Amino acid sequence: MNDETLVTQIGRQRSDQRHFVNTAIHRGSTVVYPTYAQFCEAGNLGRHQLSYGAEGTPTSFAVEQAIAELEGAAAGFIVPTGLAAVTTGLMAVLKAGDHLLIADSIYGPTRRFACSTLTRFGVEVEFFPPCLGADIKSLFRPNTRAVMTESPGSLTFEIQDIPAIADVAHKHGAVVLMDNTWATPIFFKPFDHGVDISIQAATKYLSGHSDLLAGTVATTAALQDQVYHQLHDLGMTSAPEDCYLVLRGMRTLSIRLERHQQTALTLAEWLAGRPEVEKVLHPARPDFPTHDLWKRDFTGASGLFGCILKPVSKAQLAAFVDGMQLFSMGFSWGGYESLLIPCNPRSTRSSTTWEEPGQLLRISAGLEHPDDLIADLKAGFERMARV
Ligand SMILES: *Cc1c(COP(=O)(O)O)cnc(C)c1O
Repeated sequence: MNDETLVTQIGRQRSDQRHFVNTAIHRGSTVVYPTYAQFCEAGNLGRHQLSYGAEGTPTSFAVEQAIAELEGAAAGFIVPTGLAAVTTGLMAVLKAGDHLLIADSIYGPTRRFACSTLTRFGVEVEFFPPCLGADIKSLFRPNTRAVMTESPGSLTFEIQDIPAIADVAHKHGAVVLMDNTWATPIFFKPFDHGVDISIQAATKYLSGHSDLLAGTVATTAALQDQVYHQLHDLGMTSAPEDCYLVLRGMRTLSIRLERHQQTALTLAEWLAGRPEVEKVLHPARPDFPTHDLWKRDFTGASGLFGCILKPVSKAQLAAFVDGMQLFSMGFSWGGYESLLIPCNPRSTRSSTTWEEPGQLLRISAGLEHPDDLIADLKAGFERMARV
């Protein structure tokens, strides 16, 4: 089945939903057992067997089944935030004394979790340059247990050579985790490229409407029990309404991504032609340094990209971003509405440095008409010129 069809089919058990199209929202903590024999069996029930609300509901089972199918994974899990997906995935595979390699372009809060919590529990954390590829081999130690990747990198969009990294990691008996929030499984299939644990902030494209926080973890068969027990130990249970909203977002994921992709490419092309712009950071543009890896491994690009302005004063930057009609300034991305934030990758680097003198902007192309978005940006540049 093609992904466009798949997203309409998964996570719907027709027999469970009284002939309605969609899976029902089941609220509940207590599950009652009709007999003493069934009560005694409760502790022996496996995954996706109703026993207590914290172990899941028919709604969470449906979304977890859908995540597994969308990812092409042995198992899928839903958690309350994208960050929880990252932290649980890492905790599931690490213990005191282990060495963890993390891409230097990783999402900021992932870096913070590794440097604070994981080091406190005795894990050695080391950041690697995101463009290292197979040369990551030289950083492996006998106790290297995991490599945490994110491709493209947060804010700076470097594409990592995931198959090369996975090849080295597996030779050393280490697992590869990937934060695949940018591409989603529609545009990058982690398990076809050697990833063992795939993570998404469902808050972004899976939800698609800026009204939900959620995360997903998908794993190979070899790691599914480890991840399941870690989630369970940490008490990571998602509310049924949130599970429902992830399922609902999934239905339109492929069609939304198609539009986000087109609009982002249109905006990137327009920005690249502007005199105020130093360069555009978009993996699908041939002038982007790791474009070849994107072309080899990805089947599309989503709506998030970067743009470096030629050096501007604070007042000029403020004139540009203040007064936008369509672009809002705010964290998160992947919703139907366009966002634009100034950002500074300098402060979240350790094994590499960010040398660009110009101001970096991160743009999340929403679902508006690209002509209207371009008019908004054009007016911003005109305001900037008047300062
Ligand atoms: C937003 C984001 C997360 C965290 O998701 P939350 O739901 O906000 O916790 C993780 N990784 C990436 C790449 C993100 O952009």
